[in-house]
Amino acid sequence: MRVEELRLPDDVIEALKKRGITTLTPPQAEAVRKGLLEGRSLVVVAPTASGKTLIGELALINTWLNGGKGVYVSPLKALAEEKHEEFRFWSSLGVKVGITTGDYDNPGEELRKYDWIVATYERMDSIFRLKPSWLSEVRTVVIDELHMVGDEDRGPIVELLAVRSLLDNLQIVGLSATVGEPQILSEWLGSELVVSDWRPVKLIEGFYLSRKNLIVFSDGRLEEVPRKQTLPQHCYMKAVNENYQLLIFVQARKKAEELSSKLASLNLEEIPETKDLVRELESSEAPRTEVESLSKMVLRGLAYHHAGLSLASRKIIEKGFRNRILRAVVATPTLAAGINLPARRVVVYTRRFEGFLKPITVAEFKQMAGRAGRPQYDPYGEAIVADVSSEEEGWAYVLGRPEPVKSALLQDRAVRISTLALIASGDARTPEDLVNIFEKTLACFMRGRKLSINMVRYGLRLLRDEGMIEESGSLLRATKLGATVSRMYIDPLTAVIILNDLRKIITAKPLYYLTLIALTPDFGRVRVTNYRVYSTEARSSLTMGLIPEPPEDVEEIGYYDWLRAYKIGKILNEWIEEVPEDEILSRHGIGSGDLRVLVETGEWLTYAASKVCDVAGLKEHSRRLEVLSARVSHGIKEELLDLVRVRGIGRVRARVLYDHGIKTVEELASTDPSKIANLKSFGPKIANNIVEEARKLVEFTKRV
Ligand code: ADP
Repeated sequence: MRVEELRLPDDVIEALKKRGITTLTPPQAEAVRKGLLEGRSLVVVAPTASGKTLIGELALINTWLNGGKGVYVSPLKALAEEKHEEFRFWSSLGVKVGITTGDYDNPGEELRKYDWIVATYERMDSIFRLKPSWLSEVRTVVIDELHMVGDEDRGPIVELLAVRSLLDNLQIVGLSATVGEPQILSEWLGSELVVSDWRPVKLIEGFYLSRKNLIVFSDGRLEEVPRKQTLPQHCYMKAVNENYQLLIFVQARKKAEELSSKLASLNLEEIPETKDLVRELESSEAPRTEVESLSKMVLRGLAYHHAGLSLASRKIIEKGFRNRILRAVVATPTLAAGINLPARRVVVYTRRFEGFLKPITVAEFKQMAGRAGRPQYDPYGEAIVADVSSEEEGWAYVLGRPEPVKSALLQDRAVRISTLALIASGDARTPEDLVNIFEKTLACFMRGRKLSINMVRYGLRLLRDEGMIEESGSLLRATKLGATVSRMYIDPLTAVIILNDLRKIITAKPLYYLTLIALTPDFGRVRVTNYRVYSTEARSSLTMGLIPEPPEDVEEIGYYDWLRAYKIGKILNEWIEEVPEDEILSRHGIGSGDLRVLVETGEWLTYAASKVCDVAGLKEHSRRLEVLSARVSHGIKEELLDLVRVRGIGRVRARVLYDHGIKTVEELASTDPSKIANLKSFGPKIANNIVEEARKLVEFTKRV
């Protein structure tokens, strides 16, 4: 189908052509034939790089032409940013595209000026709850990575997003590369279904038979691996000799680091073009240990990539790979779920440690395999399973279909959160409303109305017992506490644990609060390991009353969760005591990326706890938690809170200024920049900027 055949105005067609799009890819053409531009809902399952994003864009353009707003939701902030950047292309036609990814307690009234809004799942969920005035103008919701509906942790959010879209009769466009039995999803959403195998670059899958030192490909080819080499060594040498790029997926961070280090020691020469990348790493904010370990490999064209790395390093590695300076990256699956980074050959290790070694699913394999083959660069892509125990298992991955997606809503946690959210948002005013809404979920679509009734029963009981809802007759209403819990975007059980504990004491030290929030189910989702070594220390801290006891009547939280919470509390406490980041990382054996997640979660939960304490009448706790939240956000002692208000001043510079006698924004504003230019971590340019910013801030405060 040529773009001229689309029933769209000439300027839109011209814009598409300007982007190099003259004919539609097969899945795009089928989507159009099935009513994409008539406002039909669609589930599209097609391989990576088959042009699914444009299907979403066409739906959004069409809605915009008809005077409606559209939303594009994505699982990760980084992906949302990528799409936002791409969509800005349409501004030449006058489409205003905005992005929103945090701030769950903000209704987002200011987003009214946009025609399209790109958001993360959680952010859009919060917008659906808080109902800004522009929400009624939204006609189309594009859900990227729709298979995430089956995700243990975040699936329920996607499911509720879809249900709310169904209730509002929105056009839903769900996109995915890997879903088994997608007709279930399309029936649930009352949509048309587009399934396509079309890829711009051919993909050949295979597996490694270590017994025979052979890679067996689905097209009948066999590739021998020399006896003296391991599979990754062989693939790496081949990639270097034949000048293409290699991605290796492993299932543990440590393995990623070890394997890339091993490959880097293969005695290959340094590559001159990598020097710039190393320089960039050195001058970045990445922790020094990370820079040291990465630089050695990067010089030889290799790197590892996982969620423990700092954002700075990750970005530099991604750029290096995208610009074809790095020849190989050894990554954990975070990379496959995140930004689009294809390679000619992809090698996948399938054993993940979850108490025991468990093989990944076919869907997970396909997600990673889909990264093979770069349009424009590679004649074809190859994906190889690295560690199967038999030929049979190899073929099961290669020829297998992704498993069907199952609803993840059937967990107590998801049910209580959604029940409260539906009541607090006013979407459900009676138990009957709740049943009717839950009936529209994928869970009940597959299992029937009875399930819906059970879900409502459980949800209401808990919320009633904890004073989060009130009932008069059959009418349901969130109490002030319930409304706050929902607005703060926390699990009701999190609020229960915090309040039950803090009601027993009048005030506490930061370590106590930080350990307490770390005990809640909302912190339970953050990955933390190796906490058993803290047991002696934790017990003595408990004896001294420095940390809370494990909650008595919450079955879900046991002794080890409590030790884990102690480790988190301790890390965050060091962070706000201004212990240098490198020291925190090495003391506790965590990565910079881990610390960032702990800090973000800590900031959110201390803030939420402060609001919850406030409505529950625990004013002193509320006040202390509020200060604590600001301290966690910046990693500082209380005395620096004023200085960090200035743009460009973080924990390090604020400390330097303070120790040189500049203790407030006001004092900074009246300082001669040349006086601070020589201080550590400053310099003339930064000094000028910072003083300028401080002056603006003082001016602004005076005016307000
Ligand atoms: P997916 O979302 O399916 O992984 P993308 O939407 O990212 O794939 O598309 C991959 C690339 O193909 C993008 O660079 C996109 O601009 C380009 N593309 C999409 N549709 C077309 C088309 N019809 N003609 C030419 N290029 C296209």
